[in-house]
Amino acid sequence: MTAQAARVVFLGPPGAGKGTQAKLLEDRLALRQISTGDILRRNVAEATELGRQAKPYMESGGLVPDALIVGMMEPELARSDSFLLDGFPRTVAQAEALDAALRRLGKPLTAVVLIDASRDVLVLRLTGRWTNPRSGRTYHSEFNPPKVHGVDDLDGGPLEQRRDDTLEVVSERLATYDAKTAPLIDYYRKTGLLVTIDGLKPIDEVSADVLRAISGENGAAA
Ligand code: ADP
Ligand code: AMP
Repeated sequence: MTAQAARVVFLGPPGAGKGTQAKLLEDRLALRQISTGDILRRNVAEATELGRQAKPYMESGGLVPDALIVGMMEPELARSDSFLLDGFPRTVAQAEALDAALRRLGKPLTAVVLIDASRDVLVLRLTGRWTNPRSGRTYHSEFNPPKVHGVDDLDGGPLEQRRDDTLEVVSERLATYDAKTAPLIDYYRKTGLLVTIDGLKPIDEVSADVLRAISGENGAAA
């Protein structure tokens, strides 16, 4: 990857591996991950007004209203030249707001990476996920276990299971993805920026594919 600015959207269903790949890239490249889910969970934990408003939607597996999300993201987008958007946009209205904000800032997107995986695998990944709530780093009890159960390999912090990673809420989140977020695949296909990656591969192979995609080396834009 060159020192050129990279402004990337990670698209894909919950559990596809967006956060896992974003953390790996953040370590390897000067590319700041902006995870709307992490920002919202911090606001819920700190009981801010935004957190108070967002909490019921998050707990039920629905989406937080567009106006709240767009208001939260505008200052984030202005902060850096390169970034990786993880979990945003999630609706066509959010994608249009993102386009408008980036046009104003003169910072167009450079890639949209769709990481995809089958439904049965997504459910297994989410229900077995262990998360470090402070860093947002995730592990999996079976597919990517930490060295010590319940402890983050990197900073030694405690891992927990997210309240919305239960089977019931996961089913709702996947239905929400199909209804509200999947239409973005066509939206971004029309821009010519979309690259689709098989998220069923092992984590390091997905990383290599993602790196190729955001470096513009992937001829297989789809
Ligand atoms: P997302 O951010 O897309 O919701 P995560 O990156 O948190 O998804 O990944 C969901 C779960 O799947 C985590 O427990 C993670 O450790 C695991 N995981 C991520 N990528 C892979 C992969 N390629 N193979 C197996 N497990 C994976
Ligand atoms: P995530 O960490 O990406 O799985 O997001 C967790 C939850 O936060 C989602 O189920 C939504 O309720 C909410 N959320 C995160 N990002 C957005 C967004 N861009 N738009 C609306 N709601 C969001």
